[in-house]
Amino acid sequence: MDHFYLVDGVMHAESVPLPTIAEAVGTPVYVYSRATLERHAQVFKAALSGLDNPLVAFAVKSNPNLAVLKVLQQQGFGADVVSGGELVRALAAGMAPNDIVFSGVGKTRAELELGLDKGIGQFNIESREEGQELAALAASRGEIAQAVLRVNPDVDAKTHEKISTGKAENKFGVPLIRAREVYAELAGLPGMNLRGVAIHIGSQLLDLEPLETAFAKVGKLIADLRAAGHTITHVDLGGGLGVPYRADENPPSPAEYGAMVERATKGWDVRLAFEPGRVIAGNAGILLTRVVRVKRGGNGAPFVIVDAAMNDLARPALYGAWHDFEAVQPNGQRMTANIVGPICETGDTFAKDRECDALVSGDLAVFRTAGAYGATMASSYNSRGFVAEVMVDGDKWAVVADRIAASAIMDAERVPDWL
Ligand SMILES: *Cc1c(COP(=O)(O)O)cnc(C)c1O
Repeated sequence: MDHFYLVDGVMHAESVPLPTIAEAVGTPVYVYSRATLERHAQVFKAALSGLDNPLVAFAVKSNPNLAVLKVLQQQGFGADVVSGGELVRALAAGMAPNDIVFSGVGKTRAELELGLDKGIGQFNIESREEGQELAALAASRGEIAQAVLRVNPDVDAKTHEKISTGKAENKFGVPLIRAREVYAELAGLPGMNLRGVAIHIGSQLLDLEPLETAFAKVGKLIADLRAAGHTITHVDLGGGLGVPYRADENPPSPAEYGAMVERATKGWDVRLAFEPGRVIAGNAGILLTRVVRVKRGGNGAPFVIVDAAMNDLARPALYGAWHDFEAVQPNGQRMTANIVGPICETGDTFAKDRECDALVSGDLAVFRTAGAYGATMASSYNSRGFVAEVMVDGDKWAVVADRIAASAIMDAERVPDWL
């Protein structure tokens, strides 16, 4: 559920008409709803209310905007970060260092040091080599890093291959068959308190079965590790819960997910952590765009050329993803169109032969479910600027990320004097 709807024939974000934002800020622009973010945060937490004090760490990579992070911090969320840049953002948004977990397969030495400097709650170690490096670094500083070992359970998450992370051939985590050996080695190192395990098998999961299978494998691993004399107090179950991008998609609800987690983790006797991203932020944002012109098709549907492009919203070009597309002021008529951006690549196509509201040059329209993996994946390809972001709260709204003009990006470039 979200807070983008028609009021008297005009699409609003909460109580703000979208044309007001388009006129003031220009297009394209991302618009986030505070009420939707808060509702999703509360529904997710309520779904886990049967667990003992779980840590809910928002996956910052899904939407790193500071205002978004602040809303979630106020909802009691921590952060799952995958770079030093994200770590700095989570702290800037007021997240407690102890509620920050640091994932990622390629943490540099500087990033490990930053995590230690800031006293973060947990490093999710993705390899034997990373664990050795972290332990040595912490020991040299006279510190003890809190860590868990990310394992790769080799399950098929049944999602898009580019966002599947828990198959043996994926780069993430330590394969289960080597987990006991690597765990034993790392747990014995000074400088590190290895206290449990982590998994994250993929994103946009529409079925609980792969998660439950992976959790069962983790349960078995915990029992084996304990039998080998290790003390296991923390398990991080990752993120991945899907959202409905289109009406016929029916992802499991947070409540169903929570019930499955309770069933699957019964008797584990650990503090659980979760790393939801998309399920919190996805439906809390839209990308507002204006139709540049409508061009007659070659031998098919017309091209509705909008001022947003694959550099602003990469998911359709990257994953063939679907985003619902609607007029801000629908007139009741429909059309079938190819919805495309201005970038000089055929991949800059948001939808092919899409049945949608009838649109003409100058009309405003939205791509829905753009709050996660939207603005954060933006680039300046084709020397377009970086898209702006707005947050709405009831009848208030504010720019929460300035548009960065193409000229400002050019200002950072230098032509050496030997040219
Ligand atoms: C991307 C990611 C997440 C978030 O995934 P969602 O599908 O957005 O919930 C959580 N944990 C890790 C380690 C990730 O890489």
